[in-house]
Amino acid sequence: MAGDAAKAAEVVLLMGPPGAGKGTQATRVAVARGLTKLSTGDMLRAHVGAGTELGKRAKAIMDAGDLVPDDVIVGMVRAEVEAAERIRFLFDGFPRTAAQAAALDALLADQGAAVTAAVSLDVPDDELVRRVLQRAEVEGRSDDNEATIRNRMVVYHEQTKPLLDYYDAQDKLATVDGVGSMDTVTERIHEALA
Ligand code: AMP
Repeated sequence: MAGDAAKAAEVVLLMGPPGAGKGTQATRVAVARGLTKLSTGDMLRAHVGAGTELGKRAKAIMDAGDLVPDDVIVGMVRAEVEAAERIRFLFDGFPRTAAQAAALDALLADQGAAVTAAVSLDVPDDELVRRVLQRAEVEGRSDDNEATIRNRMVVYHEQTKPLLDYYDAQDKLATVDGVGSMDTVTERIHEALA
C-alpha cells in the first residue's frame, strides 16, 4: 500500500568532499523524498551561534578544519534519531569516520532500521577549492578560507573517503557526478536512489 510505503524506514547518506554541494542537494533530495535532513555541520553551527558549551568547544575545531570528536557527533545524532517518530532521514556530512559509521549502524539497528543508500558526490579537487572559496564570499563561513579548506580536504581523504568502501562492500554505494547544474545533479541523485 502507498501509505505503508510512505512510512517505510529510509536512511540516505549524502557523502562527498567539502564543496561538493552536499548541503544544497541534501535539502532538495530530503524534501522530494519526504526525509528529515540532518546536517551535523548545521547542528554544530547552531550550537556555535547560540553560544552553548558544545558550540564553544566545537568552534575552534571547525575553524581549523578538523573533526569534532565522535562522541559529541554521535550524541547529537542519537538524540535526533531516538526522538523521531519514523526513521526517515537524509544525513548530510555524517558519518565522517569509521567510528561514526559503526555507531550509526548500531543506533539504527536499535530502531530496527539500517542505512538504505550512501550517495557519494564526485567532484574534482580543483573544482572543489574554487567552489568553497566562492561560497566563502557569499556565506562568510569562518571555515571557508584556503588554509582550512586544504585541511578539510586532507581530513576527508584520510578519514571519510574510506567509508565509501565500507558502503560499497554492502552494495549501498552510489557514486554520482557532482559537476553540472544544481538541477542536473539533483536529477542524478534521484536516479541513483530510484
Ligand atoms: P560541514 O558543514 O558538513 O562541512 O561541517 C563543517 C565542520 O563541522 C567540519 O569541518 C567539522 O569540523 C564539523 N563537522 C560536521 N560534521 C561532522 C562530523 N560528522 N564529524 C566530525 N566533525 C563534523
